[in-house]
Amino acid sequence: MNIIIFGPPGAGKGTQSKFIVNKYNLYQLSTGDLLRKEIKDKTELGSKITELMNSGELVSDHIVSRLIENFVSNNKYKNKIIFDGYPRNLSQAKNLENLLKLNKQKIDIVLELSVSLETVKKRILERKSLEKRADDNEQVAIKRFKTYEKSSKEVLDYYKQSNLLKVVNGEASISDINAEISGLIDTIKGWL
Ligand code: AMP
Repeated sequence: MNIIIFGPPGAGKGTQSKFIVNKYNLYQLSTGDLLRKEIKDKTELGSKITELMNSGELVSDHIVSRLIENFVSNNKYKNKIIFDGYPRNLSQAKNLENLLKLNKQKIDIVLELSVSLETVKKRILERKSLEKRADDNEQVAIKRFKTYEKSSKEVLDYYKQSNLLKVVNGEASISDINAEISGLIDTIKGWL
């Protein structure tokens, strides 16, 4: 089973991904984490993307595509991936579909965590004091929310058309969201 977890920054994608990983024995593929690691390790790629990431802009499709290709083509992760932070636009969604097809896989469910800008701001400011992310401040949070708003609709429409999209209330408590997500995944598992 491959899952996409979708939502604005601060929606709780990372928290919910970790819950799903533990409960269903999947692997989390967070493009944001992979990119932050490049910056932390001071790689050539890291130096190219630091400014973009810190300003809340998206990194190029080509760069993120290369990162996910390694993951999707690795047999260890076959049909066990939760995509966190990918796809972010329609072109990435189509790229992912092709890549999965090439590797004889597909997406089974897309979980959209729906939250307001107010909640996003509040959560990002809380997270800043815990994780010390360079892109977690109010200005950049707003920018990242706007970046999300710009391209999220086309992605959501794409998955709505293929009947894969399930909307989850991301404003609820973590345990309530856990329960709602488990219910949705268990229904899918029954079909597989
Ligand atoms: P995240 O941890 O998912 O909030 O991502 C943090 C930042 O990494 C984003 O603001 C982008 O700059 C970059 N990033 C992560 N995933 C992608 C993606 N799929 N496409 C482009 N940029 C991305």
